[in-house]
Amino acid sequence: MIDAHIHIMPPRLPGVGCLSPLLEAPPTVRTDALRREMQAADVRHVLAMGCWNAPEDDPLGIAEILALTRLVSGLFAIGVADPTRSDPEHLRRVEAVLATKQVRALKGYLGYLPYAPDHPGYRPYYELAERYQLPMIFHTGDTYSPCAKLRYAQPLLVDDVAVDHPKVKFVLAHLGNPWLTDAAEVVYKNVNVWADLSGLVVGDAGSFTAAERQEMLEETRQALRRAFRYAERPNRFLYGSDWPLAPMAAYRAFIAAAIPELYHALIFVDNARALFRI
Ligand SMILES: [Zn+2]
Repeated sequence: MIDAHIHIMPPRLPGVGCLSPLLEAPPTVRTDALRREMQAADVRHVLAMGCWNAPEDDPLGIAEILALTRLVSGLFAIGVADPTRSDPEHLRRVEAVLATKQVRALKGYLGYLPYAPDHPGYRPYYELAERYQLPMIFHTGDTYSPCAKLRYAQPLLVDDVAVDHPKVKFVLAHLGNPWLTDAAEVVYKNVNVWADLSGLVVGDAGSFTAAERQEMLEETRQALRRAFRYAERPNRFLYGSDWPLAPMAAYRAFIAAAIPELYHALIFVDNARALFRI
């Protein structure tokens, strides 16, 4: 299995806390927890999100993750594309990191940063994504920050840039939750758009079996089932847990119950393997 969306360090976005106390723990505590989690869920590869606004010599916010890859086999880094930093100097540093081939994708934080995908600040990152054949992931949907501006996180906005940059592969993180149908339409309409299924619900293992949450969980599964069917592109959906916000195994079971078994190999392994060249 491949988990296309996890965190191993705080994202350091405006108004966002550390996400989970674990992410503030010393590096070996985090990597031990991640290895245990991967083993328990039979996950071989994970893609971890970098942080925003890192020091100059770490233009994609992934230095910490790259250091941890020595401690966890199968850990890959996703660099943060910052639309507020599109000056040539910064972009040169970004390109130097991409040239090392240590990054599997770029990520833009729509909503957390009040810039739409068609903002000129993102354009150079699309050019780099195309040149280095890296997917461009966007946070879409609900945010964990009161400072975020939701309209920028609407998945429909990604349609504009998917059309204008047909050679770039875009990923809608969280399937635009709660705008699942909008996200599914963007996937349906554009051959160069994928969606990850992370973060539709969060909570510890117990919260996935708690009686009082079953109705909510089933409603969410139904919404996912409907969006997945609507998109008519089973090869465009990726399992992601948003760990440590949800346990990988419990979240896998939750997704598996929503998606027809026929497509499990695609969702849990093959689609991510092809998209991220794993
Ligand atoms: Zn996340």
